Amino acid sequence: MAINVTVWNEFRHEREDATIGAVYPEGIHAAIAAGLREAGDHFTLRTATLDEAEQGLPAAVLDDTDVLVWWGHKAHGEVSDELVDRLQRRILDGMGLVVLHSGHHSKIFKRMMGTTCNLKWREANDKERLWVVNPSHPIADGIGEYIELPAEEMYGEFFDIPQPDDLIFVSWFTGGEVFRSGCCYQRGRGKIFYFRPGHESYPTYFNPDVRRVIANGVRWAAPVNGPEPSFGIGGPNAPLEALPE
Ligand code: ZN
Repeated sequence: MAINVTVWNEFRHEREDATIGAVYPEGIHAAIAAGLREAGDHFTLRTATLDEAEQGLPAAVLDDTDVLVWWGHKAHGEVSDELVDRLQRRILDGMGLVVLHSGHHSKIFKRMMGTTCNLKWREANDKERLWVVNPSHPIADGIGEYIELPAEEMYGEFFDIPQPDDLIFVSWFTGGEVFRSGCCYQRGRGKIFYFRPGHESYPTYFNPDVRRVIANGVRWAAPVNGPEPSFGIGGPNAPLEALPE
C-alpha cells in the first residue's frame, strides 16, 4: 500500500546563503524527496516549507500524511504552537514522524520527548562513522556494519533525550565524541525516528546509505492497521463478561 509522505523543510539556509544554496540548489526537502523517490514507487511524495500558506501544513495536507519528515534549524521558533498542537495530535493518532539532524531542537520533537534535547556540537569537518548497533531492525535493512560520512557537523553526548525504545546507530566523530544517532520512539499510536546526519553545508542527503536509512525510517514509522483504542467507562468499554454479583 502506498505511504503518503510529506517532507517538510524550513527552507531558509538554502535561500539566504549562496554557499548552502550551491549544495542544495532545490532545497534540502527536494534532495530528501529525490532519495525517497529513488527508493521505490510505494511512496506518494509531497514537500512542504515554512513560508508556504499555513506553514506548509494545512489540515488537509496533515490529515493525508502517513509519515512526516522534518528538517528545521534556524526558524524553529517561527513554527506556530497551533501547528505543533496539530502535529502532536496527528502523531498520537498514528502519523509517523522522521526528525532529521537539527530537528532535535524543533518544537515538535521537544514536545514529543518532554526533555531539552540539548547536545554538544562543533562545525569542523569531522568524519562521522555511524555504527549499526541493532542489525536486525528494519531501519538497518541493506546497510553495512557502518556508514561513513567524510565530513559532517559533530553532535556529541550527552544528548538529553528519553531512553530510546530502540537504538539503531551510534556515531563516532574524529574529535573522539560519540552520539546516539538513530533513535526510535513510540508515542500513542505513532512512531518517531530521529536520525542525526544532515548539516546544511554538507551534501549528506545525496549519500546513498543516508537515503536508504531515511526510506527505511519512513517505512518503519508508517501507521499500521492496528486497533483504535477506546478509553474510559461504558459504551465500547462495557463489561464483556457478566460481572460477579
Ligand atoms: Zn547542523
